[in-house]
Amino acid sequence: MERKIANLIANLKRRNIDGIYIASKDEARERIKQLILKNATVGISGSKTLDEIGIVAFLESSNYEVFNQYKPGISREQSLQVRNLGSRADYFLSSCNAISEAGELVFFSAYGHRTSGIANADNVIVVCGLNKITPNLEQALKRSREHATILNCRRLDWKSACLSEGLCRKDICLAPDYKRMCCQVLIIESEINPERLKVIIVGEELGF
Ligand code: SF4
Repeated sequence: MERKIANLIANLKRRNIDGIYIASKDEARERIKQLILKNATVGISGSKTLDEIGIVAFLESSNYEVFNQYKPGISREQSLQVRNLGSRADYFLSSCNAISEAGELVFFSAYGHRTSGIANADNVIVVCGLNKITPNLEQALKRSREHATILNCRRLDWKSACLSEGLCRKDICLAPDYKRMCCQVLIIESEINPERLKVIIVGEELGF
């Protein structure tokens, strides 16, 4: 394991957060399953990283009750209901938008289910590729908004102010002219419960 990752895990530990290094996404998938108790309910946040790992289908095929708001065929109302249930599930799975080398975690959210799940669920597992590690918190916030969110707006054809030009215009990115994706910002600086929050750092580039 590189010194940078070892330092990050040590910094997370000082914040009461478990940092776990896993070399590949295939191993990460298996490790996440091991961390989740049998018969537990699992909520998920929308995440390209989780998609790339394939964890949702993997858990669904392993008989976990996954609150999957992206299940084909469900209505928008049903999807919102499932998100609500997911944010109160036994476990909540998410990626982060960025993590500083000092261990500060940054999450952006549009509707708040993601930030709610991460802030409140009894057990939270955050998956993070190497590309999301930044030198400091300022860069983590910048990355989250000016890189990750812009790419996510494009991916989801989200009618934000950055969609056409690829530049953040948070000064004008407001209703009714635009549909802003980064409405809420959650920064986790520390955790009160030593068992609650785990960060799996995967030794690959994942997500945006
Ligand atoms: S504030 Fe608006 S323009 Fe800026 S990154 Fe977020 S969604 Fe895009």
